[in-house]
Amino acid sequence: LAQPGRPVCRLSAETVNRYLNSLTYEKLNDPGLRAALREARGFCPRHGWGLVRHGAALSAASLLRDVVQTLQRALAVAHAQSAPALAVAGGLQSSFVAQPYNLHARTLAVLSPQVVCPICKVEAEIEGDLLLSFAEGLRSDSTLLGSYRVSDGLCLPHFRQLLAHLGEEEDFDALIHAQQDIWATLERQLDELIRKSGFRNSQVALREESASWLRAIAATAGEVFGSGPHGDGYRQG
Ligand SMILES: [Zn+2]
Ligand SMILES: [Zn+2]
Repeated sequence: LAQPGRPVCRLSAETVNRYLNSLTYEKLNDPGLRAALREARGFCPRHGWGLVRHGAALSAASLLRDVVQTLQRALAVAHAQSAPALAVAGGLQSSFVAQPYNLHARTLAVLSPQVVCPICKVEAEIEGDLLLSFAEGLRSDSTLLGSYRVSDGLCLPHFRQLLAHLGEEEDFDALIHAQQDIWATLERQLDELIRKSGFRNSQVALREESASWLRAIAATAGEVFGSGPHGDGYRQG
């Protein structure tokens, strides 16, 4: 909590980053992962581009060759099945209009992800575990709430998930109050940024509030690591 940025976003990003690193060696031949990747029709855009790193070329080539082969086979099967149906449809005036849509639907279905991106799945599991241990920590560690209150807090999506993990009304209320304090601080910094920008005075010292607009994006949308706020060291303003 003492480190910059939202802790669940950060820890999740670190773990996903290690996982992506492991794809270039120990996880490369994991049959379960390869099967999931074929079924998912490749990575989601975020994790596909997240894999781009030193030493990943051969692993990415091997993993994605599998995916392309799967797409080729699936498309060939769907296309072979659609050909006779099209001929029949052409001869039947009444069903001619409806039939092509069905054929497209079948092709679209085999080209679509059959399961979620395997890294998204890993990410969701990590975040679920982190939020569960945070919820348990609120019960067992009396200092945690105080540390939370003076931190950047969780991003809105993770805050909602955390609230869903809390069983006790007392924990729920305490966390809501802490979050209200965090947002009040952010709101003050945003006000200051807007107010000082209005003066058109470049000499006015902007400290914490200068990056408050970036923190507001992270607070509501979540953090994206590797680029943007953290890559630019936004805490230094
Ligand atoms: Zn988050
Ligand atoms: Zn993904």
